[in-house]
Amino acid sequence: MPVIKVHDKTFVPYLPEAVILEKIKELAVEIDKDYAGKKPLFIAVLNGSFMFAADLFKSVSIEAEISFIKLASYKGTKSTGQVITAIGLDMDISGRHVVILEDIIDTGKTLHEFLPQLLNQHPASLKVAVLLHKPEATVFEVPIDYCCFSIPNKFVLGYGLDYDGLGRNIRELYQLSEEA
Ligand code: 5GP
Repeated sequence: MPVIKVHDKTFVPYLPEAVILEKIKELAVEIDKDYAGKKPLFIAVLNGSFMFAADLFKSVSIEAEISFIKLASYKGTKSTGQVITAIGLDMDISGRHVVILEDIIDTGKTLHEFLPQLLNQHPASLKVAVLLHKPEATVFEVPIDYCCFSIPNKFVLGYGLDYDGLGRNIRELYQLSEEA
């Protein structure tokens, strides 16, 4: 894994593909066990989670469904501030065992605002599975039920995650270089 340049920034190798896939397989085993007979509904949050969602879903062997949403953030009223809405949620989640799939939790703002909206729809259960979590960046608490990797508070790209649109197709994870 060589050092790479994306736009104006240099990125250094961080996690090889084999390490990521191994961890996702372990997560799938855990999910198979926890959701046996429950026919869970995975909801993957686009764009960043598409590779994680695909590899996890391929590794799960119980009966399960998957759906994809985008989260859009817009300016609400003075009291509501920034509002997050889901685009593309076309499934009735009431009574379903829902597992949210996210690429990365950074400050936690996105899911902190979005999870209560899902809970309003009365799922039978709601859990969160993330590929990456930056504990040092936490501003808003989010209950994380499954986490593949806890990482330092540094910008990462690859394996579905982008830097200004580029880098999503890189199979490994890279970290922003400290050097200017
Ligand atoms: P949060 O709401 O938890 O602060 O941010 C979550 C979103 O910020 C992620 O879904 C992702 O789109 C973006 N994000 C946060 N940290 C990184 C990072 O290190 N790399 C990339 N590519 N995106 C990030």
